[in-house]
Formats: sequence, C-alpha cells, structure tokens
Amino acid sequence: MLPLTRQVAALIPRAAAARPRRVAVVGAGILGLCTAWALARRGHAVTVLEAGAVPDPSAASCDEGRIIRHAYGTMEGYAAMMPAAFAAWRALFAETGADRLVPCRAVYALRAETPWEAAVARTQRAAGLGFCRLDDAALDSVPVLNREGLLRAIEVDGSGMLLARLILDDLAALLPQLGAIVRPGTAVAAVSAGGVRLRDGGSVAADAVVVAAGAWAPRLLPEAAAAAGLRVSLQTLAYLAPPEDLAAAWSAAPMLLCRLPNHATGGVYVLPPRAGMRLKIGDYATDAAGAPGAAPDIARHAALLDAGRRAIARFDRHRVLAIRHCLYTMAPEDRFVLQALPGETWLASACSGHGFKLAPLVALGLAAALESRIGAAELGFWAAGREGEASPAPVGAGS
Ligand SMILES: Cc1cc2nc3c(=O)[nH]c(=O)nc-3n(C[C@H](O)[C@H](O)[C@H](O)COP(=O)(O)OP(=O)(O)OC[C@H]3O[C@@H](n4cnc5c(N)ncnc54)[C@H](O)[C@@H]3O)c2cc1C
Repeated sequence: MLPLTRQVAALIPRAAAARPRRVAVVGAGILGLCTAWALARRGHAVTVLEAGAVPDPSAASCDEGRIIRHAYGTMEGYAAMMPAAFAAWRALFAETGADRLVPCRAVYALRAETPWEAAVARTQRAAGLGFCRLDDAALDSVPVLNREGLLRAIEVDGSGMLLARLILDDLAALLPQLGAIVRPGTAVAAVSAGGVRLRDGGSVAADAVVVAAGAWAPRLLPEAAAAAGLRVSLQTLAYLAPPEDLAAAWSAAPMLLCRLPNHATGGVYVLPPRAGMRLKIGDYATDAAGAPGAAPDIARHAALLDAGRRAIARFDRHRVLAIRHCLYTMAPEDRFVLQALPGETWLASACSGHGFKLAPLVALGLAAALESRIGAAELGFWAAGREGEASPAPVGAGS
C-alpha cells in the first residue's frame, strides 16, 4: 500500500479521535453520508444537511446499482487505492450489518486498440488479480454480448456491483446510532467560517463544513468550483427487461464494459440483473452539459438505445422499462476534487463515473485531514489518484 493510502487506511479500524470536532456535512449522497460515517464513528459531532429526502431520488448516488472494480485504465493511482477501498466497504458493511456488494464478473469488450489494456494488465497483476483475454469458446459462454466489430474481450477479476440505494438507506439508519444528526428537507443557502446558513433562515454552527453537494456544489461554492474546473454532466441510463428465453443467460452474465469508438455515446456499460437490480445500460458520454432542474435531453434516448444495440446481442428483443437522466460533476481528467477553502470549508466532489466505489475510502481521507493527520494538499493529491501514478494521461475512469 502506498504511504498516503496507508495513512488513510489506518482509520478503517474503528477508534475514537483525540479531539472531537463539530462538522456540518452538506448533501446526503454517498459522499456526504460516508463522510458523516467516517467522522461520527470517530466521535466527531456530525450534522448532515440535505435539501431533499434522504436519500434523494435526484442525487447521483440514488440508483439500484453501481460498479466497483480494480481495473482503472491508465489511472494507476486509483487502481492502487482499490484494495483499501474494498477494505473500507467491508468495514462499513460490518457496521451497517448488511453486505451490499454483489460479486460479478466484468468483461471489457474492446473495439479498438487502447493503452487501457496494458495498464490494466499491469495493475491487476500488481493486485494479484486475474486478467485474461477471452477466446471464442469463452465468449460463447457470454451469449448476451454482441460480438459484431469486436476486437477482443478481456475479463478482469475482483469486480462487483454495489447495491447503491440500499447502501444509502443503511447509512441513513446507521448514522443516528453513531450520534450523527441527519436533517432531510434542510437546504443550505450559504457556507461561511463557523458554519452554514440555511435557506429557511436558520443556521448550523460548526468547526468545519464539508460540501458534498454533487452537481449542486457549483451553486453553493461557485468560485471554488470554477477554479477546480468542475462542470455538471448529464448521464442517460435505461432499465431493460430481457426476453424470457434470455433470462438464464442474463442471470449468469458478467458486467459488460463496451466502449464504442466514434459513437455519440462513447459506448455503454451494462449491469446484469442481480439481487433485485434490473438489467441496466448507461452511456459514457460526458460532453453534454446538464443543470439541476433542466428538462431531460430526449435526443439522447435514441443514442443510448443505439449503443445498447451494438453492445448487446438481440437487443431489440429486450423491453425498455424506463429511461433516466442523472447529473454528476465532472472534473478535469475525471479526478476527485477534495479542496480546503478558507474557514475550514472543504469542497468534496466525487467526480465523474467513479465516485461511488471510492466514497468510503475518500471519506476516511477527509476524516484524516480534518484531524490533521494528513495535510490538505496531501489529501487533494491523494484523492485525485496521483499517488504512485506514472502516466499523466487517464483512460477509462468512468464505469
Ligand atoms: C448514471 C451514473 C452512473 C454511475 N456509475 C457509477 C459506477 O458504476 N461506479 C461508481 O463508482 N460511480 C458511478 N457513478 C458516479 C457516482 O454515482 C457519483 O460520483 C456519486 O454518487 C456522487 O455522490 P455525491 O454524494 O458526491 O453526490 P450526490 O449523490 O449527487 O449527492 C449530493 C446531494 O447533495 C444534496 N444537496 C445539493 N445542494 C444542497 C444544498 N444546498 N443543501 C443541502 N443539500 C444539498 C442533493 O440533494 C444530493 O442529495 C455514476 C453516476 C451516474 C450519474
């Protein structure tokens, strides 16, 4: 384990902090709730302020499932963090009492040569995890994959799906038991040194404020968000029902990660139906700007379904149950932004398509910084996945 990751991972076993502090957390998505968990289990006095419900259906975190895996393309710093990220999830599940990680094979369907492959071969080897090219016979056992135009398919071990919505519910139930206060329907209007001002005119005093407001963070901290290069991106996803004769194939199917060169969507990721989650596809396009409250971009439905058709065999026999739009923040190079601002305010943005899987570990990093165990600059560097990273060009952060 690299040194900063080791320092953060030292907080995985539960213990009390020497000097408890009052912390206000803005936002009850996965990052806000995990931050509250990481702090409250160490004895800090935490108040979570959430504008909507807990969890709120419009939060990026609120979905049936999220992918977790070690493979991180050329962002090798993040791959190096993943063993500790899995350990953080195990600690969280031990405390909520429910293991919400569904192990699942992951197959990357490549249609062009990419530096992703060599980097992932290297990081999987370093983590002691399998990485293999699937031959035709192995591909026959994945009949749901559309093999048209396929260059090769690669299976990576150590992957799974997180039952996202259930995890949010579990955290919302656990936090009061740890002494944290969770306040739904409490919108924060402004952040200042010494606490936050609420939209209803009230205020909450705190020694430190963590803004984990997802796509809404730029509204609360416009200057800091602009300086960090944050922008709001619109994602599209669809839930599907497989035809009856493909139900068995889907119940044994791996997750499929299908980049489509030159396609408007960039490709699709596919979560097979498991543990109550519906079959889901989502796009990789991150260029479409979104804004909270804006009308959904209908034009993207057709592009998503077209990409689904290219990724999934006999796609048109599947029934589209629902199409959803979601917002998340994007940062330059798809990296987390954890930034200390004046007055003990922290901008915490779980950027891009990989914010869920890292949330408990990143939250422990925030706890380490709030306790001055690591410096603010070190935290930002570490959370950006820079520790131990050789290559500056990222490929394949998004799930
Ligand atoms: C379609 C899609 C697929 C994804 N797939 C994956 C994946 O497979 N694996 C993975 O690791 N990650 C994935 N991600 C990314 C991940 O889900 C996000 O990075 C993560 O959920 C962001 O969490 P968050 O807590 O930062 O923000 P959010 O979940 O958006 O939470 C922010 C919360 O802050 C609240 N809020 C905002 N403003 C205020 C205010 N002023 N006062 C009070 N409350 C406020 C909001 O109501 C909201 O509840 C995906 C994201 C999307 C959209």
